[in-house]
This record gives sequence, structure tokens and C-alpha cells, in this order.
Amino acid sequence: MIAVIKESATEEQLDHFVSWIEGKGLNANVSKGENETVIGLIGDTTVVDPFLLESMDIVERVQRVSEPFKKANRKFHPEDTVVDCGNGILIGGGNFQVIAGPCSVEGDNLIRIARAVKAAGATMLRGGAFKPRTSPYACQGMGEAGLDLLCEAKAELGMPIVTEVMDPRDVQLFVDKGIDVMQIGARNAQNFPLLKEVGKTDVPILLKRAMAGTIDELLMAAEYIMSEGNEKVILCERGIRTFETRTRNTFDLNAIPVLHHLTHLPVVADPSHATGYTRYVSPMALAATAAGADALEIEVHDDPSNAWSDGGQALTPAMFADTMRRIALIREAVTQEVE
Ligand code: PEP
Ligand code: MN
Repeated sequence: MIAVIKESATEEQLDHFVSWIEGKGLNANVSKGENETVIGLIGDTTVVDPFLLESMDIVERVQRVSEPFKKANRKFHPEDTVVDCGNGILIGGGNFQVIAGPCSVEGDNLIRIARAVKAAGATMLRGGAFKPRTSPYACQGMGEAGLDLLCEAKAELGMPIVTEVMDPRDVQLFVDKGIDVMQIGARNAQNFPLLKEVGKTDVPILLKRAMAGTIDELLMAAEYIMSEGNEKVILCERGIRTFETRTRNTFDLNAIPVLHHLTHLPVVADPSHATGYTRYVSPMALAATAAGADALEIEVHDDPSNAWSDGGQALTPAMFADTMRRIALIREAVTQEVE
């Protein structure tokens, strides 16, 4: 961390500032130039709040030189992390998967949808049993019975299951049921007690980006999980809230290569929540594949107009099958060696 000191600072203020830094157990490297004085803070700078530094009278501005995320940082772990989701399904390091299924687990239609997405080439099944709804009056999901339906589908089809956990008190239930991947939804991306709780398990975590979360906040959320011991974290770009109103969210495709640059963790893209409309899901699924996503998460429903949630963004099984064929072509194009 570097602090640029105001020209008006006196020697006495500077000495006082240096002692304050040293008092934090850090070394202060003072470099006096012709026009400005710069102090490098050396050591474990996590003990210093950069906003507090910036509010000090003699400090002009503060710049971080190293990122606060350590375990998720590619600098300290250059090779891609590959997350084993069970049943031989790997995500990351060149392994590409498609996670598909309904927004909500609703009952008997789950197995029909699961069979259809598997036949089209999906390798993992999704479905929410505990649903984070904006309104407390909207359907909240099937709860534990929904987890059981997912487990039955897994037993028949051999597809690992991905489902959202919302409450730290439910984490053990998900573990006991043998859920393969626990999803942390956008609304819980900064629910630190929940992040810590899933971090104590050994279950892969699909961590979604918060509604208005920056890439760094997503990485710090991953860091929360990893710092508790669970390093099986899969990041998910699912669109962010911007001033645009023509789509449910704005798909931040940039986040895919940016995350690959900053972290070794695999990156999933969710074009369903990112766009919010069925008609835009397929083009953005292709774009995310081209941009280097390690997996896609796509909502599919066999009767979207009667879906419990997110019917307006669901692909039908036929649309999904068509999209899968196109995804395969894009994957071939972007993974090919070129002269
Ligand atoms: C979901 O996957 O159905 C969901 C609620 O996603 P998000 O948290 O991204 O809104
Ligand atoms: Mn949904």
C-alpha cells in the first residue's frame, strides 16, 4: 500500500505518521521526491483501513499495490483450479460443463426436465428448493422435499446437482442429503455468516456475484469461503444491476476474462438471470462460451408459462437442445489451436 503525502505536510506530521505506521507492525519506506513524498507501507497491510488512511490530514491519496484476496489470487496459485463436482464432472482447467434445470423444483416435472436437459447434453442439474424471492408472498420453494426430488433425479441420471442454500442453519441438511454443489445466490453473496458456514464444509460452492457487486467484492466473498478451509469455489457471473432497463440485469461479459486474469477459480456464466428474457438467453450463452466461461448455468422449463418462478427467462427443452448444439460449435472454435 502506498500513501502519497500532501505538499503541505510538515516534518513533524510526517514523523508522527511514520510512527503510527510502525506502531501497526509495518515498515514505512519514505521516499521524498521533488514534488511529492510517497510512503510505502510494507508488511501485512490488512491491518490498515485504506479509507482511514485517506481521511488523515496529511494524506493526499492511497493506492493498493497488492490485492486483499490471497487464496483466490492467481499470483499465488498460477494454475487453474479444477473443481470436482462428483460423478466424474470437473469444472475448470479446460473442463467445460453445462448446468441446466428449472429455476424452482416444483414436483414431478423435475425428472422430466432433467431427462430432457441430459439428453441435450447438460452434465449437471440445477433447481432451487429454497428460493430467495423478492416478495415474502411469492412461492418460497419446496424446501427439503425439493432436495429429495433433486437427489432422486441424481440417482436416476447420475448428474451432480446444484441447489441454493440460503440459511447457515440449513447447511448441514444439504451436506447430509449429499448435495453435490451448494449455490450461494446473488442476494446472499455478502452474507458473511453463510459464506463462513459453507466454507467449513467440503462441498463445492457455486458463488454468484451480488446484484450490485464489484468483481473485487465477488473475490472477497470467495476469500471468505476459502479462508474457512473450503477451496472448492466456482464463481458465477449472473449479471449486475445497472441503469439499463431493457434487460433484467446487465450481463458483464468482461468479468469472465477479468476473473480468469485475477483468479485461478473456475468461472461460470448464467445468461438466464443476466438477461431475464428467454429470447436473449441463447445468444448470451454463446457469447459467454466464446468469452471463456468454464461452465454455463441455464434455466430450462417444459411449461414456462406455468413455472413457479422465472418462467419468462426459461428455455424450453427444444430451445435448450438447439442452444447446446451451437455451444458445442463455439467451444470447438475457441479451443482450437490456430497457426
Ligand atoms: C437462481 O439461480 O435461481 C437465482 C435465484 O439466481 P440469482 O441468485 O443469481 O438471482
Ligand atoms: Mn431463477
